[in-house]
Amino acid sequence: MIYLSGTQLQQIETHAQKTYPEECCGLLLGTIEGDHPQVIEVRETDNNWTPEIIEGLENPGSSDHQHLSRKNRFSIDPYILLQVQKEIRDRNLNIIGIYHSHPDHPAIPSAFDREVAWPDYSYIIASLRKGKVTEIKSWKLQENNQFVPEKIIIVA
Ligand SMILES: [Zn+2]
Repeated sequence: MIYLSGTQLQQIETHAQKTYPEECCGLLLGTIEGDHPQVIEVRETDNNWTPEIIEGLENPGSSDHQHLSRKNRFSIDPYILLQVQKEIRDRNLNIIGIYHSHPDHPAIPSAFDREVAWPDYSYIIASLRKGKVTEIKSWKLQENNQFVPEKIIIVA
């Protein structure tokens, strides 16, 4: 389970619709209460994807990695991650997850999403059809490296 407010969900939706047909991305800042992540702030980031990022992956030439653009890939600048981490330390917050959008694709993690995912993070994906968000789902990586759905609980 991951706890989010209606306003935070709305913020993800608005961001996804603003960047359509490109993917949006951002950070989920919050705390872990017991076992459950609680989002305190949704932080938009730029989609920093460039084709050069593929060169760092295992099979840069594979057909999986062709026809890539910000319409189907996202990346967050590691420098931004470090900056945010520094900034929120004093507020006792952590980066607890990442959200991004899937323009005209289901809210299901792609093979690429799995390849770059971190354990312990929540991955929220917003699916859009024709520019409108139709579904938002959260996922978590299991020890066997498979994503399983995580229930989103909306708190006031
Ligand atoms: Zn994705």
